[in-house]
Amino acid sequence: MPHDPYKALYIHIPFCVKRCGYCDFATQAISRESPLIDEYVEALVIDLRKRCKQGDLSQIETVYIGGGTPSHLGLNRLSSLLYALSISMDLTREDLEFTMEANPESLDERMVKDIWAMGVNRISIGVQSFDDAVLHILGRAHDAARARSAVREAQLRFENVSVDLMCGIPGQSRTSFEESVRTAIDLGVTHVSVYPLTIEPHTPFDKAVLSGLMEEPDDDVEAEHMLAAEELLSSAGYARYEVASYAKPGFESKHNTSYWTGVPYLGLGQSATTMTQNAERRMRVMNGQVIDDLNRPQMEAEDLMLGMRMACGIADERLAQAACFLSEAPDVMRELESEGLITHVDGRWRPTQRGWLCGNELYARLLDLA
Ligand code: SF4
Repeated sequence: MPHDPYKALYIHIPFCVKRCGYCDFATQAISRESPLIDEYVEALVIDLRKRCKQGDLSQIETVYIGGGTPSHLGLNRLSSLLYALSISMDLTREDLEFTMEANPESLDERMVKDIWAMGVNRISIGVQSFDDAVLHILGRAHDAARARSAVREAQLRFENVSVDLMCGIPGQSRTSFEESVRTAIDLGVTHVSVYPLTIEPHTPFDKAVLSGLMEEPDDDVEAEHMLAAEELLSSAGYARYEVASYAKPGFESKHNTSYWTGVPYLGLGQSATTMTQNAERRMRVMNGQVIDDLNRPQMEAEDLMLGMRMACGIADERLAQAACFLSEAPDVMRELESEGLITHVDGRWRPTQRGWLCGNELYARLLDLA
């Protein structure tokens, strides 16, 4: 279908040094020396050049290299990939946000300096915890000291450094979680993402829970941790702009925001999703398979749902536009308001604290509109 231009580019690197116990992402544990990684990067470079010729990259405003573990590629392969990007699109544009994910065990000073020199301007580090005991439970490949060093190394060049932290992990005390949040704050990162642990089917954690070797994550503990994160981060000057994301002013992730605001994105690499849309239809495709095909009412319902992930919520005008396709939307919003899941202030509908904690219920009700 003829579609609106892509504004965001995602490049998927499906390799890690080892697999964490909770992970169900499309990634494989593989030696850094493996020729499979070389072949994968070569294929990506060819695809990038092709997409450039087709004009798919001409309006890209954000680039995100994610995984897996992009830093596991090592500097030589990253250089090839970043060089191919630099001749395929304008990496010098003033407003470009270019993020690369890295894990502490494979990030070092040389890599920091070189990827920054090649145009990456935001780095997102998969820390998860600054507590060795918790990192051990998670099966991460790094320890807390390495995580701290990786953040400091990243800060040698990058002003915009994000860390991911996990909460609600059985065996993780509230004190341990709060200490991790405080460490991130003390290190001076500009962005923190906080995710509760979920037990995904067929992971080692799932098996451990089923066989009684691990407790199931407790919803109340998870809620307590999420509230503690909000308190600590907001008093340190980070605003919660999305259910799991906190940023210092001006450091909100533009790329992630594009996923929540209906911006078309191009995904390259194995298991990367591409979203195309026009006024009538929105499609998501992964590995050549259509995984979502939404008509206009379904798009509107999805936009309302995505809006409620964000602190800025949905403006009255946007709701009125959605109501042209979903006549029940205003009534449902008022119902959700009376249930305390959302609030209406200054012409905008926004999630409440309860709405954030009960996100799944809120999102399901809005998706059900279509
Ligand atoms: S590093 Fe990330 S992507 Fe890799 S196995 Fe662990 S959680 Fe999964």
